[in-house]
Amino acid sequence: MKDRLNKLKELLNKYRYLYYVLDKPEISDTAYDSLLKELEEIEKEHPELITSDSPTQRVGGEPLKEFNKVKHTTPQWSFDDVFDFDELSKWEEKVNNFIKKAGLENEKLEYCCELKIDGLKIILTYKDGILIQGATRGDGVVGEDVTLNIKTIQSIPLILNEKININAVGEVWLARENLKLINKEREKLGEPVYANTRNLAAGSLRQLDPKITASRRLDSFIYDIDETSYKNINTQFEEINLLSNLGFKTNKYTEVFSTLAGVFEFYNKWTKKKHDLEYELDGIVIKINSIKIQKALGYTAKSPRWAVAYKFPAEQVTTVVEDIVLQIGRTGVLTPVAHLRPVRVAGSLVSRATLHNEDEIKRLDVRIGDTVILEKAGDVIPDIVSVVTDLRPKNSKAYIFPKHVPACGGDGSIERIPGESAWRCVSKDSFDQNRRKFHYFASKKCFDMDGLGPKILDVLIEQGLIVSFDDIFTLKREDLLELPRFAEKSVDNLLASVEKSRNVTLARFLSSLSIPQVGEETAFDLAKHFNSIEKIQEAKYEEIESIYGVGPIVAKSLFEWFKDGENRKLVKNLLKQVKIKMEAVGQKLSGKSFVFTGSINIDRIKAQEIVRSLGGEVSSSISKNTSYLVAGENAGSKLDKAKELGVVILTEAEFLEMMA
Ligand code: NAD
Repeated sequence: MKDRLNKLKELLNKYRYLYYVLDKPEISDTAYDSLLKELEEIEKEHPELITSDSPTQRVGGEPLKEFNKVKHTTPQWSFDDVFDFDELSKWEEKVNNFIKKAGLENEKLEYCCELKIDGLKIILTYKDGILIQGATRGDGVVGEDVTLNIKTIQSIPLILNEKININAVGEVWLARENLKLINKEREKLGEPVYANTRNLAAGSLRQLDPKITASRRLDSFIYDIDETSYKNINTQFEEINLLSNLGFKTNKYTEVFSTLAGVFEFYNKWTKKKHDLEYELDGIVIKINSIKIQKALGYTAKSPRWAVAYKFPAEQVTTVVEDIVLQIGRTGVLTPVAHLRPVRVAGSLVSRATLHNEDEIKRLDVRIGDTVILEKAGDVIPDIVSVVTDLRPKNSKAYIFPKHVPACGGDGSIERIPGESAWRCVSKDSFDQNRRKFHYFASKKCFDMDGLGPKILDVLIEQGLIVSFDDIFTLKREDLLELPRFAEKSVDNLLASVEKSRNVTLARFLSSLSIPQVGEETAFDLAKHFNSIEKIQEAKYEEIESIYGVGPIVAKSLFEWFKDGENRKLVKNLLKQVKIKMEAVGQKLSGKSFVFTGSINIDRIKAQEIVRSLGGEVSSSISKNTSYLVAGENAGSKLDKAKELGVVILTEAEFLEMMA
């Protein structure tokens, strides 16, 4: 533990230097925050190990020596972070305790909620209404004098509307669009690109040549007054209004709430809407509105007690790989899966991440015990993007793909599929593989048997009640009632849903067979072309291969699958139980391709089916060939990409209208 603590301290200090001093971060902010949180937790349990050089005890970075130093008249601390509503409520509790102690119970407790702009803090000094100095935050005590550069920012007034003395504090930021343009230019020149708008803003403000700063078209929002000759400002909100009246650019989205429920709503609103703004946000800042309460609460060594930053759900976090386990898929392909120390990423708790295949493990060089950066963007599955090798345990060994996997049954032999990165088990009757086939067969994508989930199917397989797919349709009520924890009602529901699923489309039927290489989209293409299962069974290789969207690998796999006598028997038996319903394919969406992202209220699989039944295509990734992106709530990177490529974006309501 002590070893981990020391390594974390050393590494975080390195990251801080790269970020604050050189403006060249090596990892994302949220991954950095995740490591910092781990350090904080270790320190909380072992306070005796906290040292003054710990990154948890420090603010910002040292000023660059090229600039004159400015000692701030008011310390420029950072904020304590909260990451969920629970942590926010705990902060409120602490605030209330302080209020009681200070005897301020009668003072109105309100929260001023501001957007947390991901830029660079600046401190502006005006004398008699004239800008005399602009400084960076630096380490909170001493910053850099960047007055000449600040003067190039159009939204920062050189003269105020009143001749007053004031220290105003705010954020310098750079528009997202600007980052793209500048990076494009740099790419052309072969220069390294900037990681994000915050670093480019910081790099631009800390230029020795103000002409370069001017060319970057920085912008600003001013949100606080540190010192002023004005005496009667009572709230944070009044302060912002005053700033605006003096001629500063303030952010128009600030709102005041009297309950945390209101704050939470504000947070949720901006979690969804942040992509609509031209600047980047990393959360919201909640400040106690009453200046009187603010003063009573004061500061800790590092942050004000009267404010917190409520960060948006992280899309990248760090965690530890506890094990690497091979999972056998329904077509026998072995997928290595990392078992992780559970972490919250993009709002969901994640404890597993696929490592895809042997080559990917080699590329990442991911090992058991490694600390890794895990990413989950929107509704995309979580992915390990890299290993934090500085935190690798001593004696760790590279992962070696086994040559035998006992769970595959038989002698556990596996083989690498020729020309692919995947391994598959050689034994046809592997228990695990079989299990997965059943899970998929009953899933929403195939027979959609509500109430027949993986756990129940596993029990039915273990008890020998189902051996092949058709057995599901002949399950007997009395047999099911004998199983442990199977009550009458659930058995009846289960049988009813099996009954309901007997009518199935040809595409779903084909998909449900777990034929290697035949996924949903291919199954649909095949169904559209042949329109009958008999024709597919008898089809010649050449005919299959000639279908648009079906290549030689798929054709070979399908052709060989149907040549196998056992497979034909399986289909024959299944057809005694189910009826394939024919669906006419419309032309309305012919040539149009759709991508879905974010959470939508209608069943996504049904929505995709509607598109296909009208002649359209469904894809999982955005490209310039995508016609429409249907974007639900919490749409992430796909939405950004669609905007970039000029793809038409539909809301759920617009999509439904189009399908009607
Ligand atoms: P913080 O998260 O504590 O927030 C304080 C800052 O918020 C202020 O200095 C100000 O610039 C800004 N801010 C934006 N809107 C504001 C508003 N309305 N009111 C008041 N302040 C507002 O920031 P910090 O202490 O500067 O640094 C922590 C941040 O730096 C984290 O996000 C962390 O991830 C990042 N960081 C990243 C790396 C890396 O390697 N990627 C390294 C070090 C730090």
